[in-house]
Amino acid sequence: MSCRCGKCNKEIEKQQSYEYQGNQFCEDCYMDILSPPKACDPWAVHSAKTFLKGKDKLSTLTPFQLRIVNYIKGKGEASLEEMIENLNLKEEALSREFAVLRHMEVLRATKKDGKIVYILF
Ligand SMILES: [Zn+2]
Repeated sequence: MSCRCGKCNKEIEKQQSYEYQGNQFCEDCYMDILSPPKACDPWAVHSAKTFLKGKDKLSTLTPFQLRIVNYIKGKGEASLEEMIENLNLKEEALSREFAVLRHMEVLRATKKDGKIVYILF
């Protein structure tokens, strides 16, 4: 007895199929569903590419990104540690936003006295 994978439509033996939320999947697709590719990187690239260039750039930022940009604008430069503390943000969240903002050419990292600081692009 066989059935078809709910994702790639490949024919699979019933005993080799995996059930997930009422659907049958082949092993490959089942693994895909259980461990989707990391969301952060493709998302960062996608966001950057869909954003506008030039002066409209800042108007496309999320409130979260604006907080970071405005903080750096006010100080001239800021280190990651400093922003984690002063903006009360998580390092993962900050790093993800920096990836987007760097792609958008809004912020960039630079070294100062051996430490990495973020400045406006
Ligand atoms: Zn499949």
